[in-house]
Amino acid sequence: MSNDNHGSQSGDHSLNVGVGDFRGANVNISHNERPTFTPEQLHIERHPALAGRSLDSKDVSIFGYITGAASLLGLYFTLFQPPLGGQSSWSTFFMFSFIVAVMSVGMSAVLRRRKFEHFFGSRHYLEISQTGRLRVNRLTAQCPWCGSLMHLRRVGPKEGPRDDQFLCVRNPAQHTVQLDPTVLPDIED
Ligand SMILES: [Zn+2]
Repeated sequence: MSNDNHGSQSGDHSLNVGVGDFRGANVNISHNERPTFTPEQLHIERHPALAGRSLDSKDVSIFGYITGAASLLGLYFTLFQPPLGGQSSWSTFFMFSFIVAVMSVGMSAVLRRRKFEHFFGSRHYLEISQTGRLRVNRLTAQCPWCGSLMHLRRVGPKEGPRDDQFLCVRNPAQHTVQLDPTVLPDIED
């Protein structure tokens, strides 16, 4: 029989204790069993966008609550007191400020929990620093297979689940690394 286990079950202080050998086995690297790398191995770098400007996440929530209050004002005039401009402009005002309020409160809440969120376009990410400041960054890495530059991108079908992956500029189809944003070092202000 050619698939006999010829492995030694003794160790020599390396990692081969009891693993046997893989002769005749089929080592299949499926998409779910890709090797993982540490941020140091990937040489991950942040590149601040917006000239490194940052925003206090508390200010974003406060802004959300103020626009929320403004939307209530708009709702009040829509329902009870159609003034000069008429009802329709107040209800437009209500709708607009309501949407802005929900978005800014929701965004800062999500960010405080996740600390990392895709922002806009395919390459920009919102991150939150140790002191709670919002920043917009691009992230790059060095390809562990060929050493080329990699860009972090939001990839996936338009309507389907999308992933944040580092794509190699030389072989973007095969040299991809999925990012776990929790392994990124904290941003210090
Ligand atoms: Zn590569």
